[in-house]
Amino acid sequence: MKDILITGGSGFIGSNFILKLLSQQDDVRVTNLDKLTYAGDNARLASVEGNERYRFRHGDICDRSAVEEAFGTGIDTVVHFAAESHVDRSIDDAGPFESTNVRGTVILLEAARKLGVRRFVHISTDEVYGELGEDGHFTEETPFAPNSPYSASKASGDLFVQAYRHTYGLDTVTIRPSNNYGPWQYPEKLIPVVIHKALDDRLVPVYAQGMNIREWLYVKDCAEGIMALMASGRTGEAYNLGSGHERRNIEVVKGVLSILGKPEGLIEYVKDRPGHDFRYSLDSGKIKQETGWAPNTSFEQGLESTVKWYVDNQPWWRKFTEGGKEQR
Ligand code: NAD
Repeated sequence: MKDILITGGSGFIGSNFILKLLSQQDDVRVTNLDKLTYAGDNARLASVEGNERYRFRHGDICDRSAVEEAFGTGIDTVVHFAAESHVDRSIDDAGPFESTNVRGTVILLEAARKLGVRRFVHISTDEVYGELGEDGHFTEETPFAPNSPYSASKASGDLFVQAYRHTYGLDTVTIRPSNNYGPWQYPEKLIPVVIHKALDDRLVPVYAQGMNIREWLYVKDCAEGIMALMASGRTGEAYNLGSGHERRNIEVVKGVLSILGKPEGLIEYVKDRPGHDFRYSLDSGKIKQETGWAPNTSFEQGLESTVKWYVDNQPWWRKFTEGGKEQR
């Protein structure tokens, strides 16, 4: 049995990853260390509760003793998802981003080094590279140029991972995924916000003219890519993880409205986010060449099944959107 410590496993991507890992690999045991911030919810993991290969530890990655306790006596691999993840919130208050995404990452790296972990898999983001115009792609060699407090904190965590590799020889693999979407995403991110507002026949806010471009990666494809790199990524290397499915925000919004049979008249163009990056686009040739990974889900299939999931699972996400807690 291999013991894997997942941080932030009660969040959107981490929970999808845990469910896939436990169902596809019989020889792993998972410990999920999560603080359960507003974004963490163990309802995502209800289907593995009681599974003897899964245990939950409630704790903060900024708390050294909680981290060391979660490592226990023999963690083989750490997969580090825990983060403050929403750009808009980082613009309102960068503090929690600095503490979890930078200091929390350093505390985990230090524990991994001291306690002799075999491999540290760090989940970074495509946003560390800054923004692109209409053309070109980010490679793993593109210099960092983060623009938001969120991406600056992620870039900083990413650099600490590189430093622990170079200074202490820690076996690290860094993964930079593009924008994820799919079931269980907290209803503050673009796709679930559009679904929620449209289902209730409310105005759907779209920044500026909705011309910004993101590369949309279905969360289950992301989880597969992380599994492939956890097993066979080369030590010390970073890997982009993107789908190639680039869409303007306005296309995404219109796609959701069309699946739901709602009118485009619900769209309300609102003042742009400060410093809004125009476009992200990854060259994901390295992961494909080295592991054979490729995304299985077209954007159209992924969007259709995501909308269906939110329509079918309203009690889950409505507990976050109701009771006066209006989402931004
Ligand atoms: P999320 O916000 O849904 O989940 C984050 C999880 O981390 C939550 O369960 C939360 O409770 C936990 N957490 C936060 N602070 C913590 C702390 N101090 N100690 C312990 N747990 C803590 O995020 P997500 O969308 O699942 O993203 C997961 C990772 O992937 C993040 O590192 C994010 O930067 C990265 N990423 C996300 C995307 C995306 O589109 N969602 C794209 C690229 C990279």
